[in-house]
Amino acid sequence: MSSYLDKCDKGFVILAKKIGHFADENGYKVYIVGGVVRDILLGKKNLDLDITVEGDCLTFAKKIAVRLKAQLKIYEQFQTATLTLKDGVRIDLAMTRQEKYASAAVLPEVSPGSINDDLFRRDFTINAMAIVINKERFGELIDLYKGSEDLNNKCIRILHPRSFIDDPTRILRAVRFEQRLGFQIEAKTLRCLKDSIRKNLDLKVKPPRHFAEFKKFFLEADVSKHVARIKELRGVRVLDSRGNIDLETLNVVVERVKIIRQNKDYDKAGRWWPIYFFSLLEKKNTHQLEKLSKEVQLDNFLSLSLMQIRECQSVIRQLTNKAKRDSEIYQLLKPFTELALLYFYARTDNGLAIKRIDDFVSIFSHITLDVNGDDLKNMGYPSTDVIGQALELLLLKKIDKKLAAKKDELKEAQILLKRRFSRNMENMNGTNRSGESRSEEGS
Ligand code: ATP
Repeated sequence: MSSYLDKCDKGFVILAKKIGHFADENGYKVYIVGGVVRDILLGKKNLDLDITVEGDCLTFAKKIAVRLKAQLKIYEQFQTATLTLKDGVRIDLAMTRQEKYASAAVLPEVSPGSINDDLFRRDFTINAMAIVINKERFGELIDLYKGSEDLNNKCIRILHPRSFIDDPTRILRAVRFEQRLGFQIEAKTLRCLKDSIRKNLDLKVKPPRHFAEFKKFFLEADVSKHVARIKELRGVRVLDSRGNIDLETLNVVVERVKIIRQNKDYDKAGRWWPIYFFSLLEKKNTHQLEKLSKEVQLDNFLSLSLMQIRECQSVIRQLTNKAKRDSEIYQLLKPFTELALLYFYARTDNGLAIKRIDDFVSIFSHITLDVNGDDLKNMGYPSTDVIGQALELLLLKKIDKKLAAKKDELKEAQILLKRRFSRNMENMNGTNRSGESRSEEGS
């Protein structure tokens, strides 16, 4: 029998054989399953191993981790485990299971099952295949739902008509695979999908779960195509109750990010998915963004960055004002998270605005003073408030290239503190003439 694994990397096959032999020795049946099988059949390289085990998966995981000298992480709650080999290869292990849905769109009850049960619980025929890796049947494809035929016909098909009712997140998954692979959602499947949307079943899914699936769109190569398709189907209402999506801004951002990513430093540094995500939300108001952040449970950093992108247009306008000094740019950009800055960067093609964000990130934000608080205290001004303000003013002057060396900083500090101190004294005399005033400086 021809082995489907022949198409894979040698290392991948050797590892699968090792696991299969070890399973034989210990009396387990093991399979490669799901999306990996789809990708193997499509001839894709660099795959992680997704393995299901018939029987006690966690005991098997512990034993094989020892044999492979792999790092083991167990997820007791889900009865799954991840092994990480020395060379970084990941192996995910899960038990074969069956799932029962008590009602529409709620999480299923999970219990141990056979490999056939495990394939039946899956989303689409192309994701519902397994390859045996036990020695005797090594490489045999289990394809109960004609997944390989659907792969050849470039078609996304559900396994049964209740599929989108049981789990409406599959709407997003259908679109993702359709767009990623250039396939078509098969006619009956598309009817069921639309039916599920018409009956508002997608609204029953808990927003964080829905969002986790939607977020995967932003990790795909052609984000715009995916989002355009889901917009056409009105299939994601986690951002907007009517399924409206601001495609226009997304398209602009996608094109800009392509250019930015040609710079290797940015390509490495960028967390791009939030940038695409934010672009869909720039026109929302504060209340809507706060509500969304809470509903989909964004972490604090993402939440803060999302709130900040509302200032995008005003910030970009100021960045293009030629009259602004470097120190003013510094003060303008300082309050923003690096993610919000990256968003502004992806939202403009104005050369001056781009240069100024670049300058802020790579120069201004790294400038430090040669003098410190102690130097200023030693001048005889012990008030931390005044010293703090003076240091800040000195930094702005240094950013504007008005202070070249430490001696210039000390000289300027002397002037600033003298002026600030005498102003403070005037204020104190003005507000407290009863003679109770405490000398701030004590000299
Ligand atoms: P990707 O290449 O994007 O990682 P994948 O198919 O491997 O795609 P995963 O989300 O990692 O996607 O899921 C692994 C497998 O688990 C799927 O191939 C599918 O068989 C099954 N699966 C995942 N989510 C669902 C779901 N909501 N309903 C049914 N089966 C699912």
